[in-house]
Amino acid sequence: MFELQKVSLDYGGTLALKEMDLSLGAGEQVCLIGPSGAGKTSLLGLLNGRVFPTSGRVSVNGEDLTSLSSKSLRQVRSRIAWVPQDLGLVPNLRVNQNIACGRVAAKGTFGLLRSFLAMGKGERDEIHQLLVRMGIGEKLYERTDHLSGGQQQRVAVARALFQKPRAILADEPVSAIDPERAKDLIELLTTVAREEGLTLVASLHDVSLAQRYFDRVIGLRSGEVVFDGKASDEGLEKLYRLGA
Ligand code: ADP
Repeated sequence: MFELQKVSLDYGGTLALKEMDLSLGAGEQVCLIGPSGAGKTSLLGLLNGRVFPTSGRVSVNGEDLTSLSSKSLRQVRSRIAWVPQDLGLVPNLRVNQNIACGRVAAKGTFGLLRSFLAMGKGERDEIHQLLVRMGIGEKLYERTDHLSGGQQQRVAVARALFQKPRAILADEPVSAIDPERAKDLIELLTTVAREEGLTLVASLHDVSLAQRYFDRVIGLRSGEVVFDGKASDEGLEKLYRLGA
C-alpha cells in the first residue's frame, strides 16, 4: 500500500530520513521503533502526505504523492486516518461531533459544519453503531472531556473508523499514558485493523508491546532502517537498545 523509494527528508540542514526504501503491504500491521529523533514522525508524515520528501518517491496504492493535484491528494489523505499522541480530540465537543470530524478531509469544513448543526439520521446511526462496537454506545452525546481516558481512546478509534480509512497511522499513541491503557489502545487498534483489513502503522517506544501485537517491526535510527522483521527475530536485543 505504501512504497518509499530512495526517500530523503532534509529539514534545512537536519537529514531526518536518508535514502529510505520501504514497502508496506495492504493489511500489514507494522510498528516503528527507535529512539527520539530517529525519524518515526517524519516517516509517518510522509506516508500521510503531510510532508514531502526532499528527494525520492512516496506512493500510496501506486500513486506518487508528489505528483498529485491538491484535490487528488486530499482524496488519498481522506482514506488515511491519523491517531496522534494526544488523540487529537476537541475536549468541549460532544462525542458524536468529534467522531464526525473523521470526515473533514472528505467533506470539507462546510460539510462538517452542516453535520454539527443538523446531523442526519444516517450519519448519527453510523456513529452510534461505531460507539456500540467500541463498548460506549451510551456516550453519543456526552461532552468528550467528561469521558475517562480509556473512553476517549475509544472515541479516537471510532473517529478513525468513521473516516472509512484504508490505513491508520498512529504516532506514539501510548507514550503519555499508563501501561494498562497503553495495552488496551494497542489491542483495540490492532484488533479493528485486523477485522477491517486495514494497514496499521504505529510508532511505539515499548518493544514488548510491539512484540506482542505487531506482525512486523521496523527499527529506525538516525533516519535509517536498522531492523526490519518479526519482533521475535534475532535482532530483538538490538531493538531493545533502540527502544531504550
Ligand atoms: P522521532 O519521531 O523518531 O522522534 P522525528 O521524525 O520527529 O523523529 O525527527 C527526526 C529528525 O528530524 C530529528 O533530528 C528532528 O530534530 C528533526 N526534525 C523533525 N521535525 C523537524 C522540523 N519541523 N524542523 C527541523 N527539524 C526537524
